[in-house]
Amino acid sequence: MRTEMTTKNEPEAQTIPLQQGESFQFRCHSGVSCYLDCCHKLELRLYPYDILCLKEKLLCSSGEFLERYTRLGTGVHPYFPAVMLNMVESDDAPCPFLTEKGCSVYMDRPSACRTYPLERGVEKAGHGAKLQSHYAVVHHGYCKGHDEKNHYTIKQWKRGAIKSAVFSIIRCITAYLSVRVVSLKEKQKVIIRVCRPFI
Ligand code: SF4
Ligand code: SF4
Repeated sequence: MRTEMTTKNEPEAQTIPLQQGESFQFRCHSGVSCYLDCCHKLELRLYPYDILCLKEKLLCSSGEFLERYTRLGTGVHPYFPAVMLNMVESDDAPCPFLTEKGCSVYMDRPSACRTYPLERGVEKAGHGAKLQSHYAVVHHGYCKGHDEKNHYTIKQWKRGAIKSAVFSIIRCITAYLSVRVVSLKEKQKVIIRVCRPFI
């Protein structure tokens, strides 16, 4: 499986398939010895939703964001290139949003950072077949989060990631609508309509 986020100069990460109901062991927090090690030398793919949240956070246009922070990479599909986040040009090549205190865009961080170490692949077995999701846990050797005692099922991990994504979506929509000076009631209506599928 191709992972959403890979680290250059590291041995290939292990991807361990996970079935619905199975749990995996993981916790990331500021007390781990590897804290922020993973925010360097990344091949990090961005999705349209990531770009929308980040450009709102950074108060710039999508065009400015793409020009300043990204490059085109090879996508999963040959006709669908990927947008890759550029790392800072230096020996340890940190993510441009990394500060001494941690991630400066934490609430609006890209999906790959948000859902790590869980990854999802989608399969369509044939014409008319339903999409089927497959999940796997990515295990990089340097990441000590896998040694922590907390256990999560796919459902529990997704719930946490979705919750923070919904807050991010609400912030994006509010910022977008503020520019258009619509009333509070109209803003609430749009937010409820957009977020209903996630709640
Ligand atoms: S966006 Fe934040 S969490 Fe993701 S790699 Fe950059 S600094 Fe780390
Ligand atoms: S536990 Fe893993 S995800 Fe968390 S800071 Fe360490 S390397 Fe990064």
